Amino acid sequence: MQIGDVGVEPIYDGVMRAPATAFYGGTSTEQWAPHQRFLEPDGMIRFDIGGFLVRGPGERLVLVDAGLGPRSGLIRDGLGNFQGGDLLESLAALHVHPADISDVLFTHLHFDHVGWASQEGAAVFPNATYRCDERDWDHFRDNERVQPVLGPIEERLETWDASGPLLPGIDTMTAPGHTPGSTILVMSSGSSRGLLLGDVVHCPVELLDDEWAGVGDVDAELAKRTRAALAREIEGTDTPVAAAHFPGLVFGRLLAAQGRRQWVVNS
Ligand SMILES: [Zn+2]
Repeated sequence: MQIGDVGVEPIYDGVMRAPATAFYGGTSTEQWAPHQRFLEPDGMIRFDIGGFLVRGPGERLVLVDAGLGPRSGLIRDGLGNFQGGDLLESLAALHVHPADISDVLFTHLHFDHVGWASQEGAAVFPNATYRCDERDWDHFRDNERVQPVLGPIEERLETWDASGPLLPGIDTMTAPGHTPGSTILVMSSGSSRGLLLGDVVHCPVELLDDEWAGVGDVDAELAKRTRAALAREIEGTDTPVAAAHFPGLVFGRLLAAQGRRQWVVNS
């Protein structure tokens, strides 16, 4: 995906599968019938896990979200089965070495977004400044699941606390609810704009109907309002959006056709 001078590439780390009607509590098999494109044949929903490499403008090489981490095999988390481990190989396939990364931006601090922050007590990206929202740092810094990977990078961490310019070509857009400091990253160049949604939206199906909500929001009501406002903002525009769990980590657009929203993947 090219947004003016800013290039964005998906960085795959792994996958999580969950029963769709359980992950989206209160939904029925009938309600899923029009949305089979998001399901596997057995009714499971597949969430890819990963991040995005953002190039330029300037010398910066930015990683947005750091996956589940070097955990092979399955980690059961109540609903879904998580599997990670591919992120560094995905970067290597693009000829990117961890030392090349100048900034690691976390859309939020859930364990499946910070997994490659550090390994065995050392920063995986030795030359990077790590950045996240201050409210998420306050909320998660002592969390037993993420503290072991975030502790070693604390000295390299800088936080933001509002919407605004962050790096050349990248702005933060505060989008609380999923977590207190959940942030949408807005990439812009000239008149072009693209959004990385973090987990404000897990699957594009959530953009089609404001009532659909997955599990795992810290504040479900606020998350719903934030998601609905986002859908209104991008509906019918040519702004491409992608998120860390979208199928194939591929960008798409939210079209408005005859009063019904439609998700169209970028070709
Ligand atoms: Zn996530």
